[in-house]
Amino acid sequence: MKVTVTRTPAEVKEVIKDWKKQGYSIGLVPTMGYLHEGHGSLIKKAVEENDKVMVSVFVNPIQFGPNEDLETYPRDFDADLKMIESLGADMVFHPEPSDMYASDFSTTISVAGVSENLCGARRPGHFNGVCTVVTKLFNLSEADRAYFGQKDAQQLAVVRRMVRDLNANIEIIGCPIIREDDGLAKSSRNTYLSSEERKAATVLNKALCAGKQMVEEGEKSALTVKLRIEDIISKEPLAKIDYVEITDWNSIEPVDIIDGSILCAIAVYIGNTRLIDNFIYEV
Ligand code: AMP
Repeated sequence: MKVTVTRTPAEVKEVIKDWKKQGYSIGLVPTMGYLHEGHGSLIKKAVEENDKVMVSVFVNPIQFGPNEDLETYPRDFDADLKMIESLGADMVFHPEPSDMYASDFSTTISVAGVSENLCGARRPGHFNGVCTVVTKLFNLSEADRAYFGQKDAQQLAVVRRMVRDLNANIEIIGCPIIREDDGLAKSSRNTYLSSEERKAATVLNKALCAGKQMVEEGEKSALTVKLRIEDIISKEPLAKIDYVEITDWNSIEPVDIIDGSILCAIAVYIGNTRLIDNFIYEV
């Protein structure tokens, strides 16, 4: 069946009204497009678990800082549409920024604490932008479930907290990180890497695997694990560490002792490209 393309909130509402009338369950997959198998895994799961699936493809300007890659962020809507259709989703929402944000748009959703460390500390306003657009998409889609990748682990934690705090009527489903054969986490931003940088980028996963192994073997000192990860990354000449942090997986507050569920998250520049990756260790 052909996927329906909607461009405005009004068009989305019309489709959703019809789905609701039929009593369908609805799954939502928010994306910024330039889709790869990571996004694909979310869409597949959503198709399995819901009667109808809406995928949004929107490079959300308010989650980008002034010196970030909003202008150059890769876009290929025709390819995205083909992939979404082949995976069996029912509707794609692909708005223009002006359809999402009126010139006098003045509301921001801000989640304290959990959004303040890691990427929140390096990208001021980023999670406010994410939470605001995600809330709009939740309201427009009236979805029963929304699918987020663990690739953006802090985003997943922030969205879960927002949904809990605001009693939003939606279930947040976290999905595992999909990787290339050599371990690099799939990301639309990998396209920025030269072939030399692409090889160097495998250091992120290598370092995380070493750290994860230490934790699995019983290492309790977050500092010891962090130092090991930093040591491996610093041996790669093209890599520059933005952060290596171990936090509580629920609060995203740094921990010294690993005795509960933790998130080990890293952000590393490979050349000019900032890549993120992580592992979660749950007890
Ligand atoms: P983005 O288009 O980068 O905003 O990502 C949209 C959604 O896809 C987010 O929930 C991401 O966490 C998820 N995602 C991106 N890359 C991956 C990946 N490699 N594995 C799993 N999920 C991913």
